[in-house]
Amino acid sequence: MNASLAGEVLWWLRQEDEGTLDSLRERADRTRARTVGEEVHLRGLLEFSNACERTCTYCGLRRPRRDLPRYHMTDREILGCADEAYRMGMGTLLLQSGEYRETPIESLVSTVRAIRQRTEMAIALSVGERSPLHYRALREAGADRYLLKFETSDAVLMDRIHPPRVNRTSNRLHLLMHLKRLGFEVASGIMVGIPGQTWASVARDILLFRALDLDMIAVGPYIPHPRTPLCSSPPASADQVPATACSCLKVIALSRLVRPDAHIPATRAMAVSVEKGYGSSLDWGADVVMVNLTPDPYRSLYDPYPGGDTPSADLDTVLEVIRHAGRIRGRGRGDRRFVTC
Ligand code: SAH
Repeated sequence: MNASLAGEVLWWLRQEDEGTLDSLRERADRTRARTVGEEVHLRGLLEFSNACERTCTYCGLRRPRRDLPRYHMTDREILGCADEAYRMGMGTLLLQSGEYRETPIESLVSTVRAIRQRTEMAIALSVGERSPLHYRALREAGADRYLLKFETSDAVLMDRIHPPRVNRTSNRLHLLMHLKRLGFEVASGIMVGIPGQTWASVARDILLFRALDLDMIAVGPYIPHPRTPLCSSPPASADQVPATACSCLKVIALSRLVRPDAHIPATRAMAVSVEKGYGSSLDWGADVVMVNLTPDPYRSLYDPYPGGDTPSADLDTVLEVIRHAGRIRGRGRGDRRFVTC
């Protein structure tokens, strides 16, 4: 690790003076303008199943949650939404679900293949930890990108909030490197403000974004979900990272500075946790916005954190945010750019 860069990142993370932080925003915004320009790419998000076999203590989709009705959209429903996404001009379709191995991988592979055959959209997947063979099959079927957040680089904290499956280890960093070798564009990121998370560990996360050469970096605030165990965790230590919009904006800006040409989304968790969450993310270095295409009645059942089903991520709202930020809607797939910095 580059000690001076680590020290600088940590200094900015601990900074609370508004005027000083505004100079961080300006630097990130200038870097964003120079490397990725004024275009804001839209990613259509389809949450096609909320079934999950994991027991993550922060997430409302966790298996032990018995009060949440589970759904799996049919192939026909998914393809209907993919066609609609294409008609709306989405350059990317992101298919997301809980981690649920009982659905055979062949079914997801055939869905990816069918979408590949009928549209030119980039296909992104976020379906959790799978075997290397499954990842390969999805890549060969035509998936272009994979999103797997490592959530925190603090291994002890991660094991506590994201218990490994019985008799398995869970190493998202290895999986990310494997996905990269398979030729996926790889996206990852963290939650900011997890109980027990320190600024020093967030500084390590940010340096990891750079070391992993991530194509997309997704950062959102931790939002307590009342139906999860982490919600009632004991009071935090003095060095606890606050789960605030300001914490997230610092992380977004520093991510832009350490990975100048990466895609950085304004995340839905930001929009949910603070008014103008999308707009401020765009001001602090973000260049991508997710548009939620999950149809009713499924949308309200995809419930990792409270408020995720609000209309903040609908197309009209998102276009207004982009216009208000003085930016333009991106055209095309919004693939990785390689910018010499
Ligand atoms: N199964 C996939 C996708 C899960 S969607 C995977 O594991 O990668 C769940 C995403 O929502 C997580 O990556 C996490 O970053 C976010 N999330 C879950 N619970 C959250 C919470 N309480 N607050 C903020 N973000 C949360």
